Amino acid sequence: MGITLFFSHAMARILSTACLASVLLPLVVAADPTPGPAGKAAQPAPASTAAPATPSPAAQPAASAPEAIAAAPAPASSTAAAAPKITYSQCHVDGQYIAMTFDDGPHAQNTPRLLDMLKQRGIKATFFLVGECAAEYPQIVKRIVAEGHELGNHSWSHPQLSKMTDASVKDQLQKTHDAIVNACGVVPKLMRPPYGAFTARQQRWANGEFGYKIILWDVDPLDWKVRNSEHVESEILKHAVPGSIILSHDIHKTTVDAMPATLDALAAKGFKFVTVSELIAMDKPASKTKPAAKPEDAPAPASAPTKTEAPVAKPSEPAKAATPTAAVSK
Ligand SMILES: [Zn+2]
Repeated sequence: MGITLFFSHAMARILSTACLASVLLPLVVAADPTPGPAGKAAQPAPASTAAPATPSPAAQPAASAPEAIAAAPAPASSTAAAAPKITYSQCHVDGQYIAMTFDDGPHAQNTPRLLDMLKQRGIKATFFLVGECAAEYPQIVKRIVAEGHELGNHSWSHPQLSKMTDASVKDQLQKTHDAIVNACGVVPKLMRPPYGAFTARQQRWANGEFGYKIILWDVDPLDWKVRNSEHVESEILKHAVPGSIILSHDIHKTTVDAMPATLDALAAKGFKFVTVSELIAMDKPASKTKPAAKPEDAPAPASAPTKTEAPVAKPSEPAKAATPTAAVSK
């Protein structure tokens, strides 16, 4: 019985992902946390840029206006001084640590297959679950946790949260939160907004409401769009850097098919796999790894996504700074 249901869910998600992605692109880019620089991709994908672009959404206490993006890479990741960092697209770490993340599942066949691959290699990953699927496959959710992986909230039905009211967003997140807890007893600490679409204000709100850290990504192989394993593998290998948060989807067979070779090649390059929370725990102010961070006028030069960060909202953008304080614990 679950089959038809699953199909419709899956198809709907696939379709909506494909369609929405193009429709949303502009929104995402304009409306928020998109790792801005590489705007071309359908999703916040700094990926195509050689540089692990510094996602704008990130870190910034989000004081910056949602639309800040387009032109500038904006305020980035580490927040050194200001408010606690609650959004991450990548981390600054010592060592070749990366986090593999898989969205939109669990999927009846592909997720267990992926779990086998990860287990064989002793790799821990992070799964951002869609509530509807978690509720449908609680045993898979349980297995994910039992095998040492981390779980995050990816909304109930994968809508574009940035266009929804707080009440609706809360419903999406709460139902998923509950489905995860009910399935495995673990309380998720992370959330990833579908399409990366979540305004700065919503990021602070979700952090305050659920204690979630908002997780985006800096490597996007566009595996939902290009259903080709070699492509998935080569994109990930091309863009992964220490501290990367790699996005992919375990609902797609081609993505899972790509994993053995991808994981082995990453390991051969010296990368070590950790969960997102482990990666965040190793995060340190970018200024330490970066040459010169001049807070003062770090304002993003239009083109080069420097990782340097402006601790403050971009000067150029009259971001109406919402109080970062509103936010929360980190
Ligand atoms: Zn998704």
